[in-house]
Amino acid sequence: MSILVFIEITEGTIKKSSLEAISYGAQLGDVTAIAFGEISVEELAKAGLSGASKVLHVSDEKYHLGNVQAYSSAISEAMESIGADTLVLSKSSLGDPISARVAIKQGASLASNVIELPDTSDGFTVKTSIYTGKAFAITKLTEDKKVISIKKNAIGIKEDGNAATVESFTPSSTDTDFKAKITSQNKTTGEILLPEADLVVSGGRGLKGPENWGMIEELATTLGAATGCSKPVSDMDWRPHHEHVGQTGIKVAPSLYIAVGISGAIQHLAGVNSSKYIVVVNKDPEAPFFKAADYGIVGDAFEVIPKLTEAIKAIS
Ligand SMILES: Cc1cc2nc3c(=O)[nH]c(=O)nc-3n(C[C@H](O)[C@H](O)[C@H](O)COP(=O)(O)OP(=O)(O)OC[C@H]3O[C@@H](n4cnc5c(N)ncnc54)[C@H](O)[C@@H]3O)c2cc1C
Repeated sequence: MSILVFIEITEGTIKKSSLEAISYGAQLGDVTAIAFGEISVEELAKAGLSGASKVLHVSDEKYHLGNVQAYSSAISEAMESIGADTLVLSKSSLGDPISARVAIKQGASLASNVIELPDTSDGFTVKTSIYTGKAFAITKLTEDKKVISIKKNAIGIKEDGNAATVESFTPSSTDTDFKAKITSQNKTTGEILLPEADLVVSGGRGLKGPENWGMIEELATTLGAATGCSKPVSDMDWRPHHEHVGQTGIKVAPSLYIAVGISGAIQHLAGVNSSKYIVVVNKDPEAPFFKAADYGIVGDAFEVIPKLTEAIKAIS
């Protein structure tokens, strides 16, 4: 198979979820990656460690801000140009509309939220995660061309390859590709963005009040983590709404999610069950969150968290 992998960039580096997509693609066939925006050739070459032999870089300034239509046209053109039959990408707010558009442009079968390598014993069948991780679907992709979007944290990153060659790629864009124009993006500076974070420390109503968030912030700073919270906490204005995690808030997919004083209601779990490891700190041993946890500490957060922070400081 000839695979094109769309890689997303953050702060001049390749996102971890895109390295997972490359590693997935490399187990299916020869991988060329495509990236847009401001990133050095040295950084892009690192895609080779995860299995890409070549990276196409679209560096034109008008592609810097994540324009879905323009990216989809360029990716479709790149597939034609290298003769790729499959596009692999990470499921994300940018990846979702791009996968749908490219599938239509290419007449491809699309599978979203894929969690395993395909079964090719009888055609091409993939397993996908559905109902916010509560169930699986087995989906057969019948077209020769395929678009596969990968669930974050489902595929391990391989790092046994060599540096990839990096080539400039100039798509033949048209005005139609830029019907919607992002003119600027304003990110909250100095903070780790919750949807992108690899480590998250989250607090719930068990923390009693906003005045007690200092210990959550200190643990997060010590780890280099983003902070999150449960819905009631943001509803009560203890924390800003952009920190609210769950079904009706931000869905996170970090390597580590530490939940402190959160009961583990199903609506909260819906936002965290793509986390690789979940650590729960709760004084109630019957708290439902423990069922979803990889590690649990039954204890009073006001005793456990300061000790945990000190222990991490001591080894870092
Ligand atoms: C339609 C709908 C959508 C919703 N969407 C969301 C959503 O997106 N996100 C979300 O979070 N919720 C959502 N909810 C609310 C959800 O059902 C729960 O009510 C909410 O998650 C509970 O928040 P909590 O765990 O912080 O509080 P609580 O349920 O009050 O739990 C507090 C926990 O803290 C523990 N605790 C208390 N003191 C301590 C201590 N000193 N040390 C350690 N632990 C302690 C308690 O044992 C308890 O388990 C939604 C509800 C509905 C109906």
